[in-house]
Order: sequence, then structure tokens, then C-alpha cells
Amino acid sequence: MISPRPSVAGPTQDVDPDGVAWICFDDPGRSVNVLSQDVLTRFQELLLAAREDALSGKIRGVVIWSGKEKGFMAGADVEAIREVDDPLQGETASRFGQSVFRTLEDLPVPTVAAVHGACMGGGVELSLACRYRVASDHDSTRFSLPEVQLGILPGWGGTTRLPRLLGLQAALDMLLTGKSVPAAKARKVGLVEKVLPAAIFREATREFILARIEDGPMVTGATRGFGQRLLEDTAPGRRIVLRQARKQVMKSTGGHYPAPLKILEVVGASLGRPLSQALALEAQALGELLGTKVCRELLHIYFLREAARKGAGIEGLETTPTVSRLGVVGAGVMGGGIAHLAASHGVGVRIRDIRHEAVSGALAHAGELFQKGVERRRLTRREADLAMERISGGLDYRGFREAELVVEAVVERLDVKRQVLAEVEAVVNPTTVLATNTSTLSVNEMAEVLERPQLLVGMHFFNPVHRMPLVEVIRGKASSPDAVALVYAQSVKWGKVPVVVRDGPGFLVNRILGPYLNEAGHLLGEGASMAEIDREAVAFGMPMGPLRLMDEVGIDVASHAGAVLHEAFGSRMEPAAALTALQGTGRTGRKGELGFYRYSHGKEQGPDPDLLELLELPNSANGPGADAIRARLILAMINEGARTLQDGIVASAGEVDLAMIMGTGFPPFRGGLLRFADELHPRMVLSRLQELEKSVGPRFAPAPLVEELARIDATFYQRYPGIR
Ligand code: NAD
Repeated sequence: MISPRPSVAGPTQDVDPDGVAWICFDDPGRSVNVLSQDVLTRFQELLLAAREDALSGKIRGVVIWSGKEKGFMAGADVEAIREVDDPLQGETASRFGQSVFRTLEDLPVPTVAAVHGACMGGGVELSLACRYRVASDHDSTRFSLPEVQLGILPGWGGTTRLPRLLGLQAALDMLLTGKSVPAAKARKVGLVEKVLPAAIFREATREFILARIEDGPMVTGATRGFGQRLLEDTAPGRRIVLRQARKQVMKSTGGHYPAPLKILEVVGASLGRPLSQALALEAQALGELLGTKVCRELLHIYFLREAARKGAGIEGLETTPTVSRLGVVGAGVMGGGIAHLAASHGVGVRIRDIRHEAVSGALAHAGELFQKGVERRRLTRREADLAMERISGGLDYRGFREAELVVEAVVERLDVKRQVLAEVEAVVNPTTVLATNTSTLSVNEMAEVLERPQLLVGMHFFNPVHRMPLVEVIRGKASSPDAVALVYAQSVKWGKVPVVVRDGPGFLVNRILGPYLNEAGHLLGEGASMAEIDREAVAFGMPMGPLRLMDEVGIDVASHAGAVLHEAFGSRMEPAAALTALQGTGRTGRKGELGFYRYSHGKEQGPDPDLLELLELPNSANGPGADAIRARLILAMINEGARTLQDGIVASAGEVDLAMIMGTGFPPFRGGLLRFADELHPRMVLSRLQELEKSVGPRFAPAPLVEELARIDATFYQRYPGIR
């Protein structure tokens, strides 16, 4: 019945003895199916032929399926999206896809999208043009419309058909967030008609379509309550929903991203209009979005992430063994987080600490995170229980011998870390890779005491581990390519974005953050108000201001990192007087319920007014203004970013940008720290830094690389291209 795997990129078709045409997507040249122009053209040809066959009675139904083991459709070809640079071209591409899917929609026989595996973007839109959608009950079966994350909208009928099928609220939830919806949820919201067992998916799909052919149509779409219908099916109700959604978008994006606002506009304007008019609006809107700067920046980041995921240039990545057992030493905040992360990816974890309470605390912390996963429906109860069973711990090194990787996350002291690593080396296999989660200490200095220094690599997670996507993979002087490859590959498998960095104080992200946080201290000392400083950083697009960030990280932790940077880089990193004074007060930030801000039972209560007096800060009337605050905060980071490149901490401007976005939330709509600097142009950066050097002090002396780029009239990305 089913054809052998096809050898062409486009879909192929087979008609079974019941008269069902099975159209299969299985591009032999790619691991996932992509709706490129060629594939769509071939699909259109098949659909036109199917139409003839349906009219002449040769076929009675059509099933669209994927020959890939796990993956229905990854969506449009993002490479091709990158090529589009004028709105008309974007609109035309949208119109073409829409016309293909309209041919599918207009077939005079029942059509079914049989979705097994990830169904993304254009894949969802294809399925929406079918009369029915069925999904396999496999974990990998998920629906998502991630276009908004690339600064665009689903332009092949997605913004038009989804609200018509699901209702406004459920559709907006998918369109505005890009979140992925598992099969059961898809059934609940009316995106699929049936969830069928993965083990017999083809057979069950066959039964489903035969029933539709023989027994007639079934009702599709969401079953909505009276209240929901009142809101979604009346013009005033819809206006309320759209207004609320817009408010939410403005709150979460600060209005910096045009795509979600455009989606709301298109959905609002097209509901209730004939399909052809709605599709025309959608195509035009897609063209407009493709021409925006934000879209270009988000595409840039997408490709940086893809490059990091593939690890181009990392030697030995293909052959590196998979970690099935992990040892973690140090059951604190980070050790517990790492254990939870690994266990949730199927790895058996053994934790060791010198204190019982720490081990039980880490287990309890992991348990809470799994519980949250269950509450948020990311995990089933059984999956959470199974994951929790993978973690055990104690005061000895039991279970460490079998581990392919051991991560050290003990207190931040070189002597303790050296001793712990030497102990671990003595109990593990001679091939076990050791990783340190240090944030400030030298990997090279740790390696000095080891018998096998080539097996030590830095694996710097950020706090909280389950939320922060970045891992700095620190390649020490002695680290072997195989050890680096294992840590890198493992980070990707655990869903993280690794960036390889050279050993050096603060590595990459903390080194760049250092002058930024310190500048906030200087600004405070000159009379800028706390609220103003944080507000300006947020207005630039940072997820939170520098003072709030210090409260979150812990003032003690931030001060320690600041001291390390000061020792390494001298006077330009000398801690601001206000920060030194604050450290003397013993305040620790959120964890101690008092920092720059006040907290009560974990809830923030606003800036602490007592701080002004406590730190003897000048009154803010004559402090630096908003522009000066913003310029000083951002230029401090750019200047240090230039120095990290020049010192070879990373090899490309793209890595600086990816790490800052993934590690600090640097605003994606700006494309990255150095991409933003390139946009200003290094000549402008140089002149601003020279002004600040004169007006503020020598810490703003331009990095030699900035001077060089200004001289040779080149950008950071031109001088340091590629991701590695
Ligand atoms: P923590 O104080 O919460 O935990 C450290 C744990 O190590 C404690 O439970 C302690 O009992 C244990 N320990 C001390 N000596 C030990 C030994 N000889 N053998 C086994 N266990 C021992 O610290 P943390 O915040 O989890 O930080 C751990 C490491 O991660 C540090 O190197 C830190 O710099 C780094 N780090 C921390 C953060 C952060 O924000 N907290 C972020 C990134 C990296």
C-alpha cells in the first residue's frame, strides 16, 4: 500500500486499492521536511492531478503524511526567507504558498493530514488546509507556529485559518507565542480531530479516512462554551479579546517587535471576511514584516543558533559518545539544577556533597522543578517520577566510576576545586571527562594538579540552570578536542546553546557584564536614581536593569566576580565606590530580601529609599540624564566585547552576540551587542568612547580593536566573521 522511500525532494504519491491517494513528504537530502519553492511546486502538481483523479472517481480521499521517522514538517525554508528583501517579493512568495494550499483545500474528496512528529510553521498551515487532521500520540508530535519568533507571521493561511478553526483566543495563544502544542492539547483545542496510537498510526489513519469517505463528514474545530462564543463570535467580544491580547504583547515586548502586533492587526481585520480577502491581507502583511529590520535581526540570531547547534568547526562532534551517566559534585544551587537538567534528558545522575542537607536539598529542588513541569503540563506524572528516580546522591563517590562525565559545582575556591577534581580523577574511569562549572576561576590552573589535564573542560551553566540557555564551554590550554566535543554535544542534547570560549577572567559573558554593572554603580554615585538607571536599560531592551540584575544574581556573587575582574584587568574595572559601600552593608539582594530593592516574602516592593542615605549618594536632581545613562551602560559593554574578541576569548563577533543574548537576555531585536555596534559603526563607537573617556574617565578608553576598525573602516562582523 505505502510506497518505498522516495528519492526526490518533493512529495510523491501512491494510490491504494481503496482509492486513497497517499501523498508522502520525505526529502532524502534533509533530516527534516522543508517546504521549499521546489517542494511546493511539486506538491501543487500532485494536487492538480489529484483533483482530476477525484473528479473522474479514480481517488476517493487524500492523506498527507511524512516518511520521516520523527518529523512531519519543519516549515518553510528559512534560508529562502533570508533571501527575500523587498515586501513585494515576500508577498508573492506568500501568495504562491497560499494558492497551493487552496488547491488542497478545494479538493472534492476528504483530505487528512496525518501528523507524526514535529509539525511546524508551514506544516501546520498545510494541515489547516486539509479537511481533517489526525495526530499520533507520540511524544515528538507537536504543533507550533514559530514564525513570530522570526519576526514574521504565518503567511500561507495560518493567521487566516487558525482562528476560524480554534476560535480567537486559542489561535492567538499559538500565533503570538510560537509555543508548541502536544497532540493531546491539540485535540482539546480542536486543532486535530483524533489522536491515534503511534504504533499503528498508518493503519489507524487509513481507517479514519475510510470512515470519512464511507460514513460522511464529522464536525471539526473547537467545542467552545457559551461565554467563549460570546467573546469570540461577536464584534464587540472580539474587540475585547484583541485589545487584551495587544496589552499583553506590549507588556511582554515593550512594543519592540512588530510581528505580534501585525498578527493581531491581520487577525482582527480578516475575521468575518471572505477567505480570499483575508489571505490577501495576510500576504501583504507578511511582505511588510519581511522588510523590517527586526525581522532581519531575528533571522540573524536564528542562524547563529543553528550554527551553534550544529557545532560547525568543533572537532570530533560526530563521534563523541553519549553521556548516559553523570556525576555531579556539589549539591548547591547549580549542582541541583544540573542534576535536574540531565535527569530530565534521560541521564542517570549521582550527586555528591560533603553535607547530607545539601544532597537532600538538591533532590528536593529537582523534585519541585519536576512537579512544576507536571503542573504546567510539560511532563506527565509518570515521566516526572521516572526522571526523579534517575537522581540519587550521597556523601561518597559511589556510581562515579560508570559516569562518562562528571561536573564539579562546589564552592568557588581554587584550592577546594583542585582537591575535589583530583579526588574525582582517582575514582573515575581513565576516559571520564571532568567539567568545572566555575564562573571566575581559571580552568588552566585547576588542570595543573590533574594526572589527565586533557580531560578537564569548563562547562559554565548560568543560574537558574533550567531556564538560562547558554553554556560557556571553556577550552583550557590542555583540554583535548574529544573532551571539548563531549561537553559541547552534551550541552546541545540537553537543549542548551553552547559557545566555546578560551580560559580567561570572567570568560565571555561575565567579563562583558562586569563593566556594565559597575557603570551602574558609578552612575548611582553621580546622582542618577535607581529607577532611572534600570528604566533606561529596560528601555534599550534589556530584560531587567543592572541594579535589579545584581539583586537577582546576589550582590555578594556579583561583587566577588567584580573583584576577580578588577584583579585581572586593573583600574578600568575598579569597583564603583557605591558598590563597594553596598557590599559593606551585607545586603545580598533578593535571596536576603534586601538589596537595591526591598522584598517581602519574595515579592519586590520597589527601590529601597534608605539606600540613598546609607550609601551617602548625592540627590538625583543634577545626576546624569537618561541619554547619558543609556550610552554609558551600553558602550561599556561594547568596549569590553571588543576586548574579548581582540584577546581571542571567542573567535567571532557572532559568538559574542549569541552568548550575550542567551546568557543575559540582550535584546534579540537589536541582533546582538556587536551587531548593534556595527549598526552605529565602529567609527561612531570610537568617537562616543573618546568623548566618554574625556568626560567620565579613562575606563572608557577605546579598546584597540575599536580604533583599528574605525581606521580601516570595517565592522566587527567583517573583521571577525563566521561563528567560530
Ligand atoms: P552553593 O554554595 O549553593 O553550593 C556549593 C556546594 O558545594 C555546597 O552544597 C557545599 O556543601 C558543596 N561543597 C563544598 N565543598 C565540597 C566538597 N569538597 N565536596 C563536595 N561538595 C562540596 O554554590 P553554587 O551557587 O551552586 O555554585 C557552585 C559553583 O557554580 C561555583 O563554582 C559557582 O561559581 C558556580 N556558578 C554559580 C552560579 C550562581 O549564580 N550561583 C552561576 C554560575 C556558576
